[in-house]
Amino acid sequence: MLDKVLIANRGEIALRVLRACHTLGIKTVAVHSTVDRNLKHVGMADEAVCIGPGPAAQSYLNIPAIIAAAEVTDATAIHPGYGFLSENADFAEQVEQSGFIFIGPTADVIRLMGDKVEAIRAMKAAGVPCVPGSGGPLGDDVNESMAVAREIGYPVIIKAAGGGGGRGMRVVHTEAHLGNAIATTRAEARAAFGNPQVYMEKFLENPRHVEIQVLADGLGQAVHLCERDCSMQRRHQKVVEEAPAPGITPQQRAEIGKVCVEACIRIGYRGAGTFEFLFENGRFYFIEMNTRIQVEHPVTELITGVDLVREQLLIAGGEKLSIRQEDIRIKGHAIECRINAEDPDTFMPSPGTVKRFEGAGGPGVRIDTHIYDGYRIPPNYDSMIGKLIVHGRDRETAIARMRIALSEMVIDGIRTNIPLQQRIMADGGFQHGGQNIHYLEKRIAEQKEKGIALA
Ligand code: ADP
Repeated sequence: MLDKVLIANRGEIALRVLRACHTLGIKTVAVHSTVDRNLKHVGMADEAVCIGPGPAAQSYLNIPAIIAAAEVTDATAIHPGYGFLSENADFAEQVEQSGFIFIGPTADVIRLMGDKVEAIRAMKAAGVPCVPGSGGPLGDDVNESMAVAREIGYPVIIKAAGGGGGRGMRVVHTEAHLGNAIATTRAEARAAFGNPQVYMEKFLENPRHVEIQVLADGLGQAVHLCERDCSMQRRHQKVVEEAPAPGITPQQRAEIGKVCVEACIRIGYRGAGTFEFLFENGRFYFIEMNTRIQVEHPVTELITGVDLVREQLLIAGGEKLSIRQEDIRIKGHAIECRINAEDPDTFMPSPGTVKRFEGAGGPGVRIDTHIYDGYRIPPNYDSMIGKLIVHGRDRETAIARMRIALSEMVIDGIRTNIPLQQRIMADGGFQHGGQNIHYLEKRIAEQKEKGIALA
């Protein structure tokens, strides 16, 4: 069992990790920037270390400062949370080389999954269904790329091997535009990610985003914990997530889950992870693997009863996975609304002081947030300030509970996206379920144009 965990993150996920540690009797070290001294988990941690000024590059992304903090506090392990350094293979490597346990997979596996061309190759070899595509990096010969595109059929998408965060992608509808698109994406990829490699995939026009949660102990055992539907997106950012995904049959779930579990064992995966797929016409197409805990992990926790962060800690402590696939049963339906400090119509960030915060309650309601009355949200970081998650016996009940919970929640002093979340919950298409990844943006655009409400 781990003795002391340094939490290399901030906000709600730092608090989430701290709670899991303390539940297991593990001591905690919070690291924070100068503008984050007032974070809730900083006050609750056994020790706290300031690692630098507000800009993340000088604090939460500052590898030497974080490792030094682990050294002075004599931590056993480092939990990276999500974002920041969580998928940085060099960080994982340096953590381990400095004698600490990195709570996540090995640096090699993180590196493999960080290169999308290599990740797709590895996944194909492991039998995971991928989007039809070039199967490798595109060369300089445009005629060869044209032949590939003709074979898979237009539209195609050119993607950067080192891309992330929805950047470094370009859709091409006709052959005339292919050469230019490859050249532009390559130049952008070189500048933004330091890796000029690009590859080609069939552009799926109306897919849903469906992802599979896995846990593996790196000792030969792995399980999947059902899927999540994260199709409600704006600018490739998830807004609402739910589990299970509407309309996925138990057989489809079992099949794709088994493929993911086998892939985990084959690549020596360790820890919690997510296989992201596009789902169209009843078929799954792998796009990438996230080698960390995800923002939307609570919906999986609510339908399976498994505490994923606790499992991460146990696995990092060297324990064998105690959960068997047959133990995992889906109970009911869960929905998560991300709560962002932003204008619900313009989406402009709205940092500032939370004058009053009132949560929500009742059966099946969970709030993961670090905000409190008087908390000052710094302008330096992501605008997500919490997550409202509900669980019910079925999807209809979950939506009803979410609508009540959203109406109960009060966050005064700043603007939040709660009104947008209320409109989504009241929207007929959302209530029907199974919408594709373009649905939310289309509805928002329609609303703007016609001045009609989303509902
Ligand atoms: P990132 O790592 O930047 O998030 P992904 O490969 O996960 O990149 O893709 C991000 C999003 O881009 C997907 O969720 C989807 O909306 C869109 N996308 C990526 N590949 C395709 C594709 N082949 N067809 C259609 N949309 C795609």
